[in-house]
Amino acid sequence: MAVALPRSSMKARDTLFYGLILVVLAAVLYTIHIAGTEVHSVTDCTSAYHCETYSQIECKFFGLKGGQCTMYSYLMYGACGVVSFVGAVTVAVSLYRLIEAPRVSALPSPPGLCPKCGAMNPPTSKFCNECATKLA
Ligand SMILES: [Zn+2]
Repeated sequence: MAVALPRSSMKARDTLFYGLILVVLAAVLYTIHIAGTEVHSVTDCTSAYHCETYSQIECKFFGLKGGQCTMYSYLMYGACGVVSFVGAVTVAVSLYRLIEAPRVSALPSPPGLCPKCGAMNPPTSKFCNECATKLA
């Protein structure tokens, strides 16, 4: 039975870079959103004794009004959340791979592990059962 070790085509350094870009992008999106919107406190009185206070979002960009602006606002919050989450996870995984992977590969390989194809052979094997490479 061959146990192939997983290999990634993307370098951890590259994914770390893309992850950081995503986090910065989320921060930029959020800044644009904060700069482009203003929250007002609106008090609406249906009678002299009954008033309701609620916050209303006003968009300075795009000329969005009322419900459109609220919708845009939620979309921006959602987008910022998703982008920053994906970015943070990407950064975390990349850092893990950068820090942890070299340590794992520096461990002495168990007897029977093929250095060429990664197949696991019985410890007594002299040659790999998968690719016939000579085992140490
Ligand atoms: Zn092999």
